[in-house]
Amino acid sequence: MGETIPENRIKKLDSMFDAFSIVAEGTYVYVCDMRYDYSKWSRNAVYAFDLPGEYMYNAGGIWEEHIHPEDRETYHDGIDAIFSGAENGHDMQYRARKVNGEYDVCTCRGVVLLDDDSNPEYFAGVIRNHGIQGHIDALTGLRNQYGFFEDLDTHINRNSVARIVMVGISKFTEINEVYGYDFGNRIIQKVGRYLLEQVGNRGSVYRLDGTKFAVITATQEVPEILEKYKEFRTHFRSGFSIDDKVVILDLNGGLLTMDNFSVDVQTVYACLNFAYGESKIRRQGDMVEFYNDLTEDNRHRIEKLHAIRASVMQDYEGFFLMYQPVVDAQTEKLIGAEALIRWKNETYGMVPPDHFIPILERDALFPDLGKWVLRRALMDAKRILKSNPNFVVNVNLSYSQLEKVDFLDMVFGTLEETDYPPRNLCLEVTERCRLLDMTLLKNIVVNLRGKGVRIALDDFGTGFSSMGIVKNLPFDTIKIDRSFVLKLEEDDKEKELIGHFTGVANTFGAKVCVEGIETTGMRDILQNYNVQSFQGYYYSKPMVIEDFLAWADKR
Ligand code: C2E
Ligand code: MG
Ligand code: MG
Repeated sequence: MGETIPENRIKKLDSMFDAFSIVAEGTYVYVCDMRYDYSKWSRNAVYAFDLPGEYMYNAGGIWEEHIHPEDRETYHDGIDAIFSGAENGHDMQYRARKVNGEYDVCTCRGVVLLDDDSNPEYFAGVIRNHGIQGHIDALTGLRNQYGFFEDLDTHINRNSVARIVMVGISKFTEINEVYGYDFGNRIIQKVGRYLLEQVGNRGSVYRLDGTKFAVITATQEVPEILEKYKEFRTHFRSGFSIDDKVVILDLNGGLLTMDNFSVDVQTVYACLNFAYGESKIRRQGDMVEFYNDLTEDNRHRIEKLHAIRASVMQDYEGFFLMYQPVVDAQTEKLIGAEALIRWKNETYGMVPPDHFIPILERDALFPDLGKWVLRRALMDAKRILKSNPNFVVNVNLSYSQLEKVDFLDMVFGTLEETDYPPRNLCLEVTERCRLLDMTLLKNIVVNLRGKGVRIALDDFGTGFSSMGIVKNLPFDTIKIDRSFVLKLEEDDKEKELIGHFTGVANTFGAKVCVEGIETTGMRDILQNYNVQSFQGYYYSKPMVIEDFLAWADKR
């Protein structure tokens, strides 16, 4: 080596390189003139891996520096075999380090081309970068969820403030049903392209799952984003045409400012997803900003959530259950208790469930937490059953738990493991279950009841479609939310409402539990209605199991 390559050889190299360069994204081409060990590499490889340039002497040695130490020996041997003439091609996989220090999995396929005297002349091939390939959404060509997480991570590591927007299409299932799946795909492509054009160089656009897109921008301020979002909505609402059809779309949007870098991407994603969900469920698609739009100081909230998520993964450290008695409405004897989750740690003290359940229930790790709650509650309740065999423990469920295919197995499995009698368990679901498929839900409820497990509808009256759900599902108990009895003593309207609610429950054969009994007066009034059980501070606030056992003993 050491000989300088002549001009005509470089020309030949270029033309060989061009011949090899008819390739897709994420694939790099290399051609090496073996006589001079002089190579040309694709420009995108030069950028991604910070190579000295497109043209390199000793590219094999330079590339070797980028190969993961564990893969280096195999690589080195492979290249040696090529240059010594022992092999005339190779096909290997290794990890290569990019500019940001991370490794991408690459497969490298190369062949040796011989000259007229059968001596090795060129070594040429392609390197396919699976790291990059895995980050592109096939339908839209945008970066996908993995790319999104990766870029989010980069922002966090660099401590650079960014705003993250999630935009999704409303009621897309209907479009798919009416026009078919292919047409639906074309809409998604069109929306992706539109976002890409509109965002331009002010941010990056991603396609997340299904009909959700995300934008990460480091330059746009909140008012500009809100303004842009309004424009997007107007644009899609005014209808656009695909083939001969005009489609009208509505959007939902969530927004979050990331300026706290002690959190991980999953926490950011959970918060963003929460804001998006609020936009969809409660704000008819108006943009919901996680940072200021929701109550409480969210700066702390994101950090806190981060800590809470971490606890789930650290064996549920800091989580515990409290139990609030449920008593018979007439005799006021203890008949059950509701298990209520809490989280406690040194920095944040005791955190009530409202601060984390609504945000985490969309999180992938929530079902694990739900299972932990059920198991813990059953183990505690077994202690109460010893002296009170008819005792029923109530456990709250989130709709996201029900959605999991193994939900029933999880419940039955936990009952079995803990050797707990199913009829002493009542699962509370809320009206938000309407977001689930009704057939699926019915199937779950029927199965549970078949084994003796009871089902209650929690927070009755607080949602839009409490009636619908009562009509469709056979509940054992309906729990009337405390917001309906707050002013029971002075307000006749509330009394009237209670009358209606108990009427509905009766019609469908369900019992009624009223929550939030705080005074003797409330109790006295409610005893005149068709209500079977009470729960409230008047009897007791939620207690840890030891206190609960002592309390139950005294009664
Ligand atoms: P919920 O299931 O409706 O639980 C009743 C809530 O009302 C509890 O709040 C309880 O402490 C409170 N409460 C009961 N009686 C009174 C009263 O007389 N006065 C007042 N002011 N409040 C009363 P908590 O423990 O903060 O729980 C809030 C919500 O968090 C629960 O509402 C439930 O939806 C959710 N949650 C709690 N634990 C779990 C859980 O393990 N899993 C799931 N998915 N959700 C849970
Ligand atoms: Mg409840
Ligand atoms: Mg409730």
